[in-house]
Amino acid sequence: MERPPSSRPGPETELRPRLDALKAQSLYRRRRLQDSPQQPQARVDGRPMLSFCGNDYLGLANHPEVIAALRDGAERWGVGSGAAHLVNGHSRAHQALEEALAEFTGRPRALLFSTGYMANLGVISALAGRNDTVFEDRLNHASLLDGALLSRARLRRYPHADAQALKRLIDTDPARLIVTDGVFSMDGDLAPLPGLAAIAREVGAWLMVDDAHGLGVLGRDGRGSLDHCGLGPEDVPILMGTLGKAFGTFGAFVAGSEELIETLIQSARSYIYTTATPPALAEATLASLDITRREHWRRERLAEWIDRFRTGATRIGLNLMDSPTPIQPIQAGSAEQALAWSAALEAAGLLVTAIRPPTVPEGTARLRVTLSAAHTADDIDRLLAALARLPT
Ligand code: PMP
Repeated sequence: MERPPSSRPGPETELRPRLDALKAQSLYRRRRLQDSPQQPQARVDGRPMLSFCGNDYLGLANHPEVIAALRDGAERWGVGSGAAHLVNGHSRAHQALEEALAEFTGRPRALLFSTGYMANLGVISALAGRNDTVFEDRLNHASLLDGALLSRARLRRYPHADAQALKRLIDTDPARLIVTDGVFSMDGDLAPLPGLAAIAREVGAWLMVDDAHGLGVLGRDGRGSLDHCGLGPEDVPILMGTLGKAFGTFGAFVAGSEELIETLIQSARSYIYTTATPPALAEATLASLDITRREHWRRERLAEWIDRFRTGATRIGLNLMDSPTPIQPIQAGSAEQALAWSAALEAAGLLVTAIRPPTVPEGTARLRVTLSAAHTADDIDRLLAALARLPT
């Protein structure tokens, strides 16, 4: 039987104007095609490029020991884990990594999640519900904001890194959970963790820190933002970290008390209803965790590059932000300007992505330069020389 013609236009008719509008506003995003490991020397869209936009801060993503651990892990465990952790996907390799991460973060237990995005969704929606209020920094990562939305709690966003403003808001609306990035992913600055911890203690709320960009980079042996600020588990009961950045592998974890971790195992839906990551990946991360702790020179070199970059960029009058971390944004303002700068750098063989709204607030588009221990002094100088020639 012939179907009656639909009165509804197809998706292409409906969606094309939306895509065209993004293009008209310089907000259209496109993927580049890589034919090599990602950083620092990469082959991108068929050309050799020097990359300053990955999060492989310690240069571990291509480390021979990490690669060997992944390869050996695949020989031992196969590739797929085959099932969720609560079915039969939880291997001794996952268990060993959880124990190592618990020890590294100084907490009783840690729990692996497939991604940082999923960890944040899982934790916040497991701990907060309809009658709660969750307070978040205005510049928190999207996954933290989405976690609060999923929890159906009331989400209140406080001005960026402003503990006093948070205190004033909390005085009118008791908090269940306060959530912040440790290092802000697009600005590179640090959260005012001691102030937030004092408020959380005073009002009896939980504090959760997403230290995706602090772990491995800051603190003793790379223990992260909390260690950098002299804080411990009693100040920040919920610590989330990712493994795809400084650790150079993939995945994420949450570390905390026995009760916290058991609660997440029982009720975090993004933990329960998904396939466990490959056990070989856990083996690779165990290797990279070991290197992270042992090879202090990587953090020292990174600190040297941060200093070299900031000194050089200030000398040529670039508009830097107040960041002591390998995330070094250069403010452009408009999306068009950020795109034009990124294209000019690309023409010079340098890969630095333009970050535009909605990833950052309107009017604050920027180049997000990220530095790595795998860069050389010449790499930093080449970037500075190209930045000095940017059109204004
Ligand atoms: N939190 C922060 C602060 C991040 O920057 C990111 C990654 N961009 C995530 C969470 C998500 O982690 P993943 O990439 O492992 O999903």
